[in-house]
Amino acid sequence: MAGEGTFRFGAGRLSLDLIRTLRYRGRPDEVEELPSAAGWDAWLRRAGLDEPRDADPDRAVLARELREHVAALIGAFAEHGLAAVRGADLDAVNAAAAHPVPAPRLGAGGALRHVSEHPGAAVRSLLARDALDVLSTIDQDRLRRCADPDCRTLFIDTSRPGSRRWCAMAGCGDRAKKAQQRARDRGPDPA
Ligand SMILES: [Zn+2]
Repeated sequence: MAGEGTFRFGAGRLSLDLIRTLRYRGRPDEVEELPSAAGWDAWLRRAGLDEPRDADPDRAVLARELREHVAALIGAFAEHGLAAVRGADLDAVNAAAAHPVPAPRLGAGGALRHVSEHPGAAVRSLLARDALDVLSTIDQDRLRRCADPDCRTLFIDTSRPGSRRWCAMAGCGDRAKKAQQRARDRGPDPA
């Protein structure tokens, strides 16, 4: 069972990290990392978005719905470009982004809090706005899928040559390097 320690971050944007909470998307062994409200709370904690606290019992359902719209939209953009950014998924992400985001409030003594009358909608708006920002500011050829066939995470390649292949060197990149090394150590295939 997926726990708080298994969440993967580092795709470059929170909306991309949200997409990867459905691991092995579309495969028979797909793993839902946000199966419950507690799972969603844990993800928000890791993302630093756990304030204000959302007490809606349906918050994980709403989060998964938004995630799937974001995944469809950004996935379509990565494969087919901006012409594919349209339809019901776009309408849903735009609608989520229309809600006010959490407001910063500095208390006497300097403690910064984040407040909202509708915490759940506010945090979903943050994530939806991040997705819209990715779609409107990132070049299609800088949005890549990790070369690890078990990962396929969408990430933003910010390297100068634009030749990054893995979502992260720690993990997917290291595994690939070690596999190459093992293949070299074995020598050429007898076949
Ligand atoms: Zn990867």
